[in-house]
Amino acid sequence: MKIDLGPRAEAFRAELRAWLAETVPKDRDERRALMGSPRWEELLVEQRLICVAWPEEYGGRGLSGVEVAVLNEEFARARARRLTRGMGESLVGPSIIVHGTDEQKARFLPRIIDGTDRYCQGFSEPDAGSDLASLTTRGIIDGDELVIDGQKVWTSWYTDATIIFTLCRTDPDAPKHRGISYVLVPVDQPGVEFRPIKQITGERHFAETWFNAARAPLDNVIGGLNNGWAVSMTTLGNERGGGATTQHLQHERMFWDLVDEVRRLGRARDPLVRDRLAWFWSHVAIMRFQGLRLLSALANDNDPGPSASISKMFWSEHQQRLTNYAVDILGPSGALRGPWTSLFLGSRAHTIWGGTAEIQRNIVGERVLGLPKEPPAAGDGP
Ligand SMILES: Cc1cc2nc3c(=O)[nH]c(=O)nc-3n(C[C@H](O)[C@H](O)[C@H](O)COP(=O)(O)OP(=O)(O)OC[C@H]3O[C@@H](n4cnc5c(N)ncnc54)[C@H](O)[C@@H]3O)c2cc1C
Repeated sequence: MKIDLGPRAEAFRAELRAWLAETVPKDRDERRALMGSPRWEELLVEQRLICVAWPEEYGGRGLSGVEVAVLNEEFARARARRLTRGMGESLVGPSIIVHGTDEQKARFLPRIIDGTDRYCQGFSEPDAGSDLASLTTRGIIDGDELVIDGQKVWTSWYTDATIIFTLCRTDPDAPKHRGISYVLVPVDQPGVEFRPIKQITGERHFAETWFNAARAPLDNVIGGLNNGWAVSMTTLGNERGGGATTQHLQHERMFWDLVDEVRRLGRARDPLVRDRLAWFWSHVAIMRFQGLRLLSALANDNDPGPSASISKMFWSEHQQRLTNYAVDILGPSGALRGPWTSLFLGSRAHTIWGGTAEIQRNIVGERVLGLPKEPPAAGDGP
């Protein structure tokens, strides 16, 4: 289906396609060599093709959501690697752009773009996951600094991080969604300790994070003291909706990998297998249409809103079903370690991080469909 995204987006597509055609080698080995080399990063920096949606004055290109989707499509088409700056680009930067002061934007955004600052996320606590607002990590003002004590958990990708963006309670007397602050804490200090957690896949991407009188300048509080909940909602909206317009591309590739696997096993003519594959394909198509729907929301006001939860819920559950099937159809070899087993094990986490599938359903029910809120559990009081 060809969709006309308007003259500005199509002009951008033409410009980008021409640049990619002349820069990205057609030969697979040459292309891989370039993508893996520092030269590729240099080229993207030169062309301002990192953090492209950010304002030009801070080093971005000021692209709209629609243009970012075009960029992702063109990169996928040219088999060119998109270089992203992790959570700095996907979560912290967009939250600073909405809630930060001009001084904070000028200080933090260029350092994300050039790779100086690398972020990890310190939101969840042992007793505050889905109910994030019940967090107990404390922040106390001491002069022009915040002193932070408490424990976080499930801190992903902490090994490479220079800053942890975290939530702490700075007004314990305020109602629980107020009195929370969103603060950027440098990790290279004695008050921040990471304790690695081993995962089911054998990797150690996670850690518990302990704050023991950790210090951060008050200038690192984003959105103002005690206003961290609003900032965290922007962060989580971006976490859930971030890949929605490109998600189908990744799932399409995974689908065709499964088809190859089925052919290799000599099962491609089995009607039951074909029926199942058609069902998976229809889910990839639904993802694409959902992406396009989100694209039109982005074109209107640059905010995916609560409908980002529909995408997160749908793709994460699809991936679990598809990888379950792949491991099943492989038979005994599916139990051995290999690419499908890793995807199967890894997909368990997708219905948990960024808000569980149950929480996404609550958001869709209440904030997209307008259904009544869940009643308080017995013992929760009036
Ligand atoms: C791969 C991965 C990476 C992560 N990375 C990070 C990170 O970098 N930083 C970070 O801060 N956190 C991270 N997390 C943590 C993640 O945000 C939490 O695990 C998630 O929010 C759920 O919280 P919880 O684990 O405390 O589960 P709980 O909130 O205790 O939930 C337990 C179960 O109860 C259900 N439940 C809870 N409340 C409701 C409700 N109201 N209605 C219906 N069902 C409900 C949940 O759906 C779930 O099934 C990561 C998690 C994973 C799996």
